[in-house]
Amino acid sequence: MAEIRVQNLHKAFADFTAVKDSSFTVRDGDFFCLLGPSGCGKTTTLRMIAGLELPTSGQIFLGDEDVSFKRASARDIAFVFQMFALYPHMNVRKNIAFPLVSQGLPRAQIDAAVEQAARTLQITALLDKPVSGLSSGDRQRVALGRAIVRQPLAFLMDEPLGALDAEFREQMCRELRALHDRLHATTVYVTHDQMEAMAMADTIAIMNQGVIEQLGAPREVYERPASVFVADFVGAPSMNFLPFDAALASGASAVQIGPAQIEVPALREDISARALLCGVRPEHVRFAEASPLRAEVLGTEYLGTSRVVTLRTGQGATLRAKVEVTTGVQRGDHVGLAFDATAVSLFDKASGRALRTARDDVALTMRARHHG
Ligand code: ATP
Repeated sequence: MAEIRVQNLHKAFADFTAVKDSSFTVRDGDFFCLLGPSGCGKTTTLRMIAGLELPTSGQIFLGDEDVSFKRASARDIAFVFQMFALYPHMNVRKNIAFPLVSQGLPRAQIDAAVEQAARTLQITALLDKPVSGLSSGDRQRVALGRAIVRQPLAFLMDEPLGALDAEFREQMCRELRALHDRLHATTVYVTHDQMEAMAMADTIAIMNQGVIEQLGAPREVYERPASVFVADFVGAPSMNFLPFDAALASGASAVQIGPAQIEVPALREDISARALLCGVRPEHVRFAEASPLRAEVLGTEYLGTSRVVTLRTGQGATLRAKVEVTTGVQRGDHVGLAFDATAVSLFDKASGRALRTARDDVALTMRARHHG
């Protein structure tokens, strides 16, 4: 397996720029997710790594080799498309063997590699069956078999689970991650589904309009989002944002929102007077009768293990609280709100950028640990 290094990658289609100055490293053995909404440039990035698209500028290294302008067939990478793309007239064994047959490898070597791949994926019993009668899960496993049989330097996957229903997708997520833990294969996985990325990735790159907004471990991205875009995109229900205006001095550890003083992690920069946002995740909102931050309950949703309460504050902001199912509030109730101070994020409203706070110290420690 190998490390993939992308440096200042740029891709323009006529006058439209799909990928802007992208730089990241997928460490050897990493499960790396490119995450973002439709059209943000994920597939274009992946296709450049695969060699199916040439960069306008920038470089791509596979291990020590600069492959930026090499043909796809000259890169030792397996691209897993939507996993249903099997050859319908061949049985499972022939489908898996196909890449090795194309390479003209000796028969015995091919047989051994196919058996090994089938064992890894626990589909040995299916080897001589036609692919036409297989369940969608088994079809996915066969498509994976065709990718892993080559033992490539890296796997690239583009929304491989996109066509599946939610329950089956969860199961395949677990299987893919388990497979990754067995093979330790360097993997770049494209998805627009933040739950998939959070569940499987070692590292997530969140893209927005061709730009990587943040790179980090799932926990780092969730707990310390670098921008409003990331905070909003990752997590369901997504982060709440309370607008307020303020000038803040470095060291400040509270902000005034309407009648309430909200404790926040100590600021690590001076902020001149401007529009700001206080970001708090639904699970960090609590009901506190004595709090001057008042809100009206607009509705509640029972989710089995929790209850999501939608609220409107006296200042007109809507937010959601994820609370215990036993919390007895009803539409029309008036409640006081408190936030878990260590979990609050602050953002500059105009740029969307997160303000630097004491929580960055924690994020930096996590990053240092994550990157060994
Ligand atoms: P999706 O999940 O919808 O595929 P994505 O994040 O993978 O989204 P890309 O497929 O990389 O996005 O596309 C990024 C942008 O580049 C889109 O606006 C798309 O229309 C544009 N684009 C991609 N390929 C081409 C092309 N060959 N010619 C012109 N524009 C393109």
